[in-house]
This record gives sequence, C-alpha cells and structure tokens, in this order.
Amino acid sequence: MSAAGQHILVYPFPTSGHFIPFLDLTHRLLNRRLTVTVLVTPNNLHLLDPLLTRHASSSLHHLLLPDMDPLPAPNLPARLRRLRDLHYPALLQWFQSLTSPPVAIFSDFFLGWTQSLASELGLRRIVFSPSSSFSYSLNMSLCRESLRIDDPQAEKQTLSFPDIPNSPKYPAYQINSIYRTYKDADPDKEFYRRNWLQNLESWGVVFNTFSDLEAIYIDHLKKEIMGHDRIWAVGPVLGDDGLDTTNRGGSSSVPFQELVAWLDSRDDNSVVYVSFGSHYVLTLKQMDVVASGLEESGVNFVWSVREPKASQVSRDHGVIPDGFEDRVAGKGFLIKGWAPQLAVLRHRAVGAFLTHCGWNSTLEGIAAGVVMLTWPMGADQFTNTKLLVDECGVGIRVGESTQNIPESSTLARMLVESLDGSRAERSQAKMLSEEALNAVNGGTSDNDLGSLVKAINEIKPSTGSNKI
Ligand code: UDP
Repeated sequence: MSAAGQHILVYPFPTSGHFIPFLDLTHRLLNRRLTVTVLVTPNNLHLLDPLLTRHASSSLHHLLLPDMDPLPAPNLPARLRRLRDLHYPALLQWFQSLTSPPVAIFSDFFLGWTQSLASELGLRRIVFSPSSSFSYSLNMSLCRESLRIDDPQAEKQTLSFPDIPNSPKYPAYQINSIYRTYKDADPDKEFYRRNWLQNLESWGVVFNTFSDLEAIYIDHLKKEIMGHDRIWAVGPVLGDDGLDTTNRGGSSSVPFQELVAWLDSRDDNSVVYVSFGSHYVLTLKQMDVVASGLEESGVNFVWSVREPKASQVSRDHGVIPDGFEDRVAGKGFLIKGWAPQLAVLRHRAVGAFLTHCGWNSTLEGIAAGVVMLTWPMGADQFTNTKLLVDECGVGIRVGESTQNIPESSTLARMLVESLDGSRAERSQAKMLSEEALNAVNGGTSDNDLGSLVKAINEIKPSTGSNKI
C-alpha cells in the first residue's frame, strides 16, 4: 500500500439526493487518505467546491464528462440507459489512457452497468446505496422476481415480500412506479431491471445507514442476497468533519444569517420544518392542505417550497395560496428554492419535520432527533416511513402521496401534537439520534468505514485483462 492510499473512481448519479451523500462519504474517504477521482457533469461541477477547498489537489481529482440532453418528460430508465451509452465508451478510453488507473469503480446503485465496465477493465466495482438496506432488499426482490403488476386491477392488490425480514406488505400503489407503469416488454423497463441485477455481481456494497437502525436488513443482504460480508454501513454521512454544511447541495436561497436569527428567536422544539425534498412538486390539492394546515395550526414553521422546473409544470401543480404569506407573517418563514436543510434541522428550535421521507431527509431528521411527520410520495419513501413509524417509533403518519391526503384540520392538529414535549416519539427520537451520532463518532459506522478503506487498500492493481 502506498502512504497515500489507493486511488478509486467515485461516480455519483447526478441528482441531489444521490450526489450529496456520496460527496459527504467521499470527504470521509479522503480524510482516511484514499486518492479519489470524482466523475462530474458540468451541472454538478460546483458541488465539488466545498471538497476542493478542504483537500489537497494531489488526492482529490475530477473527471468531467458531458451530461445527456434533457428528455422531454421524466423517464428514469431511459435516462439511465442514455447515460450508459454516453459514459461507457468515454470511461473505457479514460481508464485505458492511464498508466496507473484507479483500482476500483465506486458507483451509485443506479449505475449497475458500470459492473460490465469494471469487469472489462479487470477492476473491482463497489456499489454506493443512497437508500436504506431495507429498500435495497425490496428492489432486489422486485427485479429478481420480475414482478408483473401492469394491469389496471393490480393497483388494488396488496403485495407481500415474505423473504424480506418482517415480511413487509404494500398496496400496489406504493411499489416503485417503474414496475407498475411500464409494460413488461418495454426495453427501458428491461434495461432498468438488468441494471439493478448487475449490482448483485459487485464486489461490495456501501450503505448510508447504521447498524442500530437496520441490522436485520444488513444481515439479510449479507446472508441471503450477496452471500458475503463485503457490505459496509457507514452512515449517516452528514458532511461533518470540517465541511461547510451551510452550502451542502447548493447555496441557500435566503440569507443564511437571517434564517438563523429567525430560528434563534424561537423557543426550543417550537418550530416545524416542512420540506418534500429536492424535486417533488406538490399538487394543487396537497399544496392547499399543507398551507391551510400550517395556517390553522398556528405553529411556527420553516417551509422549503419547491417550484416546478419547466418539465414539471402541469395544470395540477400547486402554488402558494394568495395572501398566505401575509396571513402567516411572524409565524412562518418561507424558502422558495434551496434551503440549508441540514443546518435548519440541527437548530435547537426545530422540533418536528413534515417530510416526504426521502432517505437523506430521513437520516438527517433521525440524526437531528426531531419528530417525523411522514408524507411519502413515491420511490423508497413508503419503506422509509415503515422504518420511521413502525420500527423506530419516531414518526407519525400524516399522508400518503395523492392516495391519502389529510383534511387540513387533521394536519393542523398533528402539527401541534408533534411539538408536544410529552409525546413518546420525542423521547424515542432523542435516543435514536444518539445512536446515529455514536455510530459515526467512533461506533459501528466508523468501524465499517475503516474496514472498507482497508479492503480497498488491499486490492491488487489490475493487470488489465482479468475478468472480475
Ligand atoms: N436538500 C436541501 N435543501 C433543499 C432540498 C433538499 O439541502 O431545499 C437536501 C436534503 O438535505 C437532502 C437532499 O437534498 O440531503 C434530498 O434528498 P432526499 O433523499 O431527502 O430526497 P430527494 O430530494 O432525493 O427526493
């Protein structure tokens, strides 16, 4: 092993929820002396800035590859396929041009095709999962069993997964929409499925999770799915250890000090933070209920409101009701655009989080020790809700996508109750937060990170031709 540690290629999937935690993890790998090249596209280049200011140019490099042209409508499988077509040849050429190339490709679980590339180059591939090991297990079941639920009656079915710990059950509408809305013969769906399956051939998998939260699912993956122990739970990675978290994932759309001053003037655990993630845009009905619920509740709140991008504009998208901002003046702080979410959640004044339960938001809420008001919208969010409410006891179910939209008066009551200091969820949230912070401060996640780095440092450089 060289003193500087081995060199790896880190390849995040280019959306906020995938990029942010992978860069936080990269920071930790650099702190442990690995040399890293991060693959970025022009739109994401600026996200590297906080890392570039912290790490020597000899250990952190970037490889800039073009992004694909935008698709006319959101279509994840088609996007993954086009990204493969664009980046596979460019990466192959890049690796072959280097005299001492990276020893491993560490790539997001959406980039299953990098397994073929690693194999062609005789390199190890490590998967990064920005989702829980619970939802990873569910994805593996879905892609292995090639689930057929593309008939109209299927929406009413309940689907059971007896092979996964706790045998979870889901109404069909809570299952990843790709398995429901694409016909089985659709080549994009088949690509998506095979792309997932390629993760099974990887050398190892790294999860942004921690053992106290998900031990049974991590064990299940080791024993039943992967058949080996090279599964590392290193989270929650939250950009600590000297990274500036005020600009995490983008710069704040409001002056940071103004927001902090507003929070400073509030009592402990007296504010609800509201956000539905980096890209979900509320429907008209959802927006009206959230706005009315906040207004009726009278609670203090910070609301990060997402406005639609050009491709998301529809007749159904929500807009902030007329006069709302005046009516909640003094009680509510609206952020239209990017919010410094991590800093807000960590502020002592914030006691609850109305969330869509994206995995990063889930972990950030857990680490901050706030009560979670859950309103999952899609993807892995229903699974994350099960974990928060049923398994950890830190969440309260508020809504479910467009299938179960609460009355505004019900939402108002739940908002008030979430700040009640005597609720069981509050003490539970404090305990879970301690477990999460202990895991990354010398506990299980720190140990797993050490084992991961050790395993990478023990990889023998490729001779270029062997298949792995
Ligand atoms: N985020 C943020 N500011 C925003 C919106 C999102 O900092 O205004 C961050 C949030 O802290 C989290 C990530 O973006 O780290 C969103 O990931 P998540 O998995 O919660 O949801 P997604 O956006 O992928 O649905």
